[in-house]
Amino acid sequence: MTRINKKQSAAIVGAGIGGLAAAIDLRLNDFEVTVFEKLDKTGGRCHQTVIDGFKFDTGPSMLMMKEEIENLFERAGRDMTDYLKLNRLDPHSCFHFADGRRLQFTSERHKLKQEFESFQKGAGDTIDRWLADQNLLYEVGMQQFIDRNSPNYLSAFKPDNLSLLLKGMVTAPLYTSLGRYFQEKSLKDALAFSSLYIGLNPYEAPSIYNVLPYAELNKGLYFPDGGMYSIAQALTSLALDIGVEIKCDTRVKGFRSEDDRLYSVLLEDGGKIECDLAVINADLPEAYESILNEKHPLEEKFSYSCGAYLFFFGMENVPENLMHHQVFMPSCFETSMHQLFEENRISEEPTFYLCCPTKTDSTLAPSGKHAVTILVPVPSKPSTKGACDIDSRWDRIGDQLFSYIKEKLAKANLSLDEKDILFQIRINPEEQGQRFGLKNDAAFGLSHKLSLMGPLRPRNKHHRIKNLYFAGASTHPGNGIPMVIKSGRLVTQRILQDRMKEAIN
Ligand SMILES: Cc1cc2nc3c(=O)[nH]c(=O)nc-3n(C[C@H](O)[C@H](O)[C@H](O)COP(=O)(O)OP(=O)(O)OC[C@H]3O[C@@H](n4cnc5c(N)ncnc54)[C@H](O)[C@@H]3O)c2cc1C
Repeated sequence: MTRINKKQSAAIVGAGIGGLAAAIDLRLNDFEVTVFEKLDKTGGRCHQTVIDGFKFDTGPSMLMMKEEIENLFERAGRDMTDYLKLNRLDPHSCFHFADGRRLQFTSERHKLKQEFESFQKGAGDTIDRWLADQNLLYEVGMQQFIDRNSPNYLSAFKPDNLSLLLKGMVTAPLYTSLGRYFQEKSLKDALAFSSLYIGLNPYEAPSIYNVLPYAELNKGLYFPDGGMYSIAQALTSLALDIGVEIKCDTRVKGFRSEDDRLYSVLLEDGGKIECDLAVINADLPEAYESILNEKHPLEEKFSYSCGAYLFFFGMENVPENLMHHQVFMPSCFETSMHQLFEENRISEEPTFYLCCPTKTDSTLAPSGKHAVTILVPVPSKPSTKGACDIDSRWDRIGDQLFSYIKEKLAKANLSLDEKDILFQIRINPEEQGQRFGLKNDAAFGLSHKLSLMGPLRPRNKHHRIKNLYFAGASTHPGNGIPMVIKSGRLVTQRILQDRMKEAIN
């Protein structure tokens, strides 16, 4: 007698980068995969808006740890370069400090050492030592706390990992660990700044997030041809090429489940699609509220990343010395971060980031013109109280931020000339939250503070429904393109382990 097993079917809710990665990995493991996306296109927060021939990435603007994408294509047996062309940026970015000094980040070690040395005598050699030490953190910390389904602080107490914990390289405050190497505040601020990439207060970040500046400085910073949205397009093409079905404009409103199993996906248009398992890629805390209609067991402990206020400019021209990426620091980073994260208000001196991707890829704007994006980290729901007492209406906030930005750019000799601004578009956190379905309008999802990291972050499996899983920024391991690609791989591993256990029982 021959028994032919029907292929297992998996439904993915959301076509963000994490949803696409999970779809690809599940398909490669022989599942029939259907992705349901409420928007009219895939990519989620990795999104692009086109206005008068200017292409603006409205989410990610830089790629680190490119090996995560490369590995995904390798697992699929495809040549990534047939889908995506990544360009290495060097120098990466320029930090502009309030006192007029500038610091360039680069992967060229001798230049980086010169930059650090110019801020603090001996810091050139220290950055070498810091990078060598972080290499251990990257290799071991990544393996123990990030790259596994059951991250466990106790498992790190193996003899070979003990030194990491003893040195406080994982859980100690980030600034404490940086203070062991550098005295100059600007250098510590620049290295700690990367925590803002995941919407986390650098002054609250644990030292494992040293992996971010380490990865940037040691492994390089990348930007794809066509902008960051090309990553979403490449993963979408790969998914379709290997047989994943993607249904856009299709919102999932819930599941039909009985006891501890779900049986079908319920669509807003009334459709009901049977499946053997489902993976929710929609923002986890929002999905609990609006798709599952229940409380997450850890909900009381949830806290959120900050929001992002975005400006997009179509420019006739930009200053010659404007780089692809630059960061503008306030006179006191600590005060600015305290006002943002602790007082929940727009700081009097916010830090902000300016990106001019047309410096790398001229096709992102009509011939000879430039696209410029400015991101200001802001509280997603700012308090109207406090010393600054800023009106909570976003358009007023936008005007105030724009005046401040103009002042700072002028001081740095990088003014965007009014006559060169062809148009300006703004997107506030509320608009992003509504578009992508983000709880609390938090641009980067659940916070990455110590109490929501590793074993304390919501797991990628539902606590009761045995065939319901999660992939994406608000589950393990966390936010950012490389991490959500990992989340797709990790959830697939968990599903395969569960299937194996079921087969044995
Ligand atoms: C302004 C900004 C800047 C950033 N910069 C960077 C950067 O430079 N580098 C970097 O690596 N990362 C960056 N990030 C983070 C990165 O964008 C995210 O971590 C990543 O894109 C999140 O992917 P995801 O798969 O978790 O989910 P999402 O992108 O949130 O996708 C989830 C999808 O689910 C869909 N969905 C929701 N509800 C439903 C439903 N009921 N039915 C069907 N579909 C549903 C949504 O429409 C969405 O498409 C940035 C993020 C923001 C917002």
